Amino acid sequence: MASTESSRLILDEVLGRLPRDEIPTEGFGDAASDLITNELLLDGNSRLNLATFVTTWMPPDAAALMAATADKNMIDKDEYPQTAELENRCVNMLGNLWHAPGGAPATGCSTTGSSEAAMLGGLALKWRWRERMRAAGKPTDRPNLVMGINVQVCWDKFCRYWDVEPRLVPMEGERFHLGAEEAVKLCDENTIGVVAILGSTFDGSYEPVKEIADALDKLAAGGGPDVPIHVDAASGGFIAPFLDPKLEWDFRLPRVQSINSSGHKYGLVYPGVGWALWRDRDALPRDLVFEVNYLGGKMPTFALNFSRPGSQVVAQYFMLLSLGMHGYRTVQGVARDVATRLASEIAKIGPYRLVTDGSQLPVFAFALAPDVSNYTVFDVSLRLRERGWLVPAYTFPANREDLSVLRVVVRAGMTHDMADLFLRDLRDQTKSLEQLTERLPQRSEEEREAFRH
Ligand SMILES: *Cc1c(COP(=O)(O)O)cnc(C)c1O
Repeated sequence: MASTESSRLILDEVLGRLPRDEIPTEGFGDAASDLITNELLLDGNSRLNLATFVTTWMPPDAAALMAATADKNMIDKDEYPQTAELENRCVNMLGNLWHAPGGAPATGCSTTGSSEAAMLGGLALKWRWRERMRAAGKPTDRPNLVMGINVQVCWDKFCRYWDVEPRLVPMEGERFHLGAEEAVKLCDENTIGVVAILGSTFDGSYEPVKEIADALDKLAAGGGPDVPIHVDAASGGFIAPFLDPKLEWDFRLPRVQSINSSGHKYGLVYPGVGWALWRDRDALPRDLVFEVNYLGGKMPTFALNFSRPGSQVVAQYFMLLSLGMHGYRTVQGVARDVATRLASEIAKIGPYRLVTDGSQLPVFAFALAPDVSNYTVFDVSLRLRERGWLVPAYTFPANREDLSVLRVVVRAGMTHDMADLFLRDLRDQTKSLEQLTERLPQRSEEEREAFRH
């Protein structure tokens, strides 16, 4: 087709509407890139996004390496044996970082994120529980999983998809996550495991994994069920080892059988990569593992997906290699400094009170003082959005539905300078809200419920 005719066609389309429901008869050629780029300007600015846990900045070298490896399929271990080898090295490094007994080779795999890794961890728990029950000649039709009501939605999914009863411990008073005593109370012989979170998406707090493990030890020693722990360390798996090395939350606790973490959160890789690790080969039932061709031989895989990009795994290896222990400690340390300073400055603004202070995950939640009645955290969130800042507001689950908060997630790329700009905007908006002489209209339930992660 002559290029003048193609430009005319494109002009027609653009002056009308871009195709939405049908593939255009004639393609847009290179112009498609511009048209899409323009449309995407409507997205929020990822650097001002204080809502997400997911990496929004990587060094330019890493982005280039990802582009250069975008054509590699992670599952083609025979064709891309070196990508598979990099995956193994990452698993071994994480096994080491999380104190897997026995050293390399560690038992684990990459996934698309913590959600897939949680499914795999949960499945292994379910399979092992079923083996135990069958061996004891007991029924296997009523499995349950014990966890705090603050779990990420992936655990609700796990339970629904794999037919497991979720046993959720509600929040109570100032306890915003799972407590050891409360977890033990819900365990019985049908409990496939307890999920402990490091840390909670609601407020950035670490759950007391060691206390939970100790309480479960006591339960088993007293003749009760012997219940394993899976740690959902989606965020904390790449924070605690660098900033809280003495905190025992990982395979140092014998009761911890498996751990998941998101490479694309504090692992510092663009989405989607996650990791699932088991404490040893015995913790991962053999019949969940399939064999794929690998250099003419066989390689074990455990995954819900088949094809997926290899570039995220390459990028994870790059980040581990490029930053090293010291680099990760520095990056995460700065994030936590920024988070704790921001939190303490926000506490001084007046109407706010901190729910958490950013000293565990570099994440904190804050609420409005009870005497503030003319506006809510939802109004504050909207006002901040006018300045480009994305700060979610949401209501806590049972039994603290009375508590609504704003949450800030500090990640690599959020500097002290940016924190100052944010503080300035928050102070300005709060001052203007404080001058209201009457109550703003209440937001709909839908708007208040919109945020779910
Ligand atoms: C983010 C998160 C998940 C889900 O992780 P993805 O990597 O986005 O799939 C699960 N659990 C917790 C605690 C999380 O923070």
